[in-house]
Amino acid sequence: MGALKENVKIFVINAGSSSIKSQLLDASRLFDKDNGLLWHGQVNFHDGGQADFTSSPTGQADKHFTVAATDAESGYRKLFSEIIQSDGPLASIDEIKAVGHRVVHGGDKYHSPTVVDDLVLSDLAGYITLAPTHEEANIRGIQIARTVFTEAMQIAVFDTGFHHTMPESSVVFAGPYSWFEEDKIRRFGFHGVSHRYCSHQAAILLKRDLKDMRLITCHIGNGGSLCAIKDGASIMTTMGYTPLDGLVMGNRSGAIDPGLIVDLIDTGKYTAKSLSNVLNNESGLKGISGISNDMRQVLEASQNGSRRASLAVEIYVNSLASNIAALVPRLGRLDALVFTGGIGENCAPVREAVCAQLGFLGCFIDEKSNNDASEKVRSGVHQDISTEIAQVRTLVVKTNEELAIARDCLPFLK
Ligand code: AMP
Repeated sequence: MGALKENVKIFVINAGSSSIKSQLLDASRLFDKDNGLLWHGQVNFHDGGQADFTSSPTGQADKHFTVAATDAESGYRKLFSEIIQSDGPLASIDEIKAVGHRVVHGGDKYHSPTVVDDLVLSDLAGYITLAPTHEEANIRGIQIARTVFTEAMQIAVFDTGFHHTMPESSVVFAGPYSWFEEDKIRRFGFHGVSHRYCSHQAAILLKRDLKDMRLITCHIGNGGSLCAIKDGASIMTTMGYTPLDGLVMGNRSGAIDPGLIVDLIDTGKYTAKSLSNVLNNESGLKGISGISNDMRQVLEASQNGSRRASLAVEIYVNSLASNIAALVPRLGRLDALVFTGGIGENCAPVREAVCAQLGFLGCFIDEKSNNDASEKVRSGVHQDISTEIAQVRTLVVKTNEELAIARDCLPFLK
């Protein structure tokens, strides 16, 4: 690998169904204390064509504003204009040599970071049905970035990629083997960029070699998945063929009886499409509580006496604890449990309730450390919240998918 030219910048786009997170980084400083972060921004799209923007140039005050953004394209263009404008963090748009994109699904073809051309884009379009809301948003982001950053490489980093190392016993579903062999139906797993990044951060925090560690990373935000990581590689994860499997989530059901799905379609109550909408958007915390998919609102309602909100939190916590426990036999032992994602990083009551069920594994957390952790983690300092006698270290780690993606782009620039 050669040396990096001067003033090389990487722009990262992490597009979800209704939001875009973005970072601009100095490629030569990605491993410095500040990770070379020059700017970060976020757009949240709302129904009715409004979008809230946050634009945060490093070392300057955040800018918050709301603009009319009737479609994603106008949202992207506004976001890009924040870094391109004359007093922005770039001397010239040509300094951006790579645009890194988080892409949810790489199917059975793409595992490693990949330079996107027309063929790759058309392959990705074929995976839309496997992760409908996310994959479409990712493709749109790449298409728009290509028209703006015309001199930059567009590089896709796949959420499925990290799980490519899972053994066959983790990826084959217990239907006919021909599903796997002929139809390419398998557990793909998602959130791989975050699981991989957090496993590295956990090893750094514990001053251990990741190659000798057995971890479970819990990426719990609006979506949620667990990953069992042995010697640095994913060996099992809770999401499956689609991001609907596994844990109870904000508005996704997670694993439910497949017989129920067949029955609901068979009796005509739902079509496949309407049931997919219910399972993806109207279930989980939102479905049970009838209040919200947002953990903050559900916890508040629970504290205010809502029985269904309390039930939703109880079912959510049970799903997490039992799925964590179910992964331990696959690992043989558990060195560390890592919480990350919006809920994992910020929600001490959920961490406490989950760990209260895992004492039999030797997982004990310190109440004060747990309560103090979220604020410290928000400022970027990962935390070990275990008690001294705990056999399993419980960590709270701030994920940074955009940084992980930028680091994945680096080899293409040398
Ligand atoms: P993410 O998808 O990673 O952005 O995470 C979104 C989830 O994190 C939502 O359910 C939020 O309610 C939850 N979350 C964010 N901050 C907090 C907090 N302070 N306490 C509890 N949950 C939070």
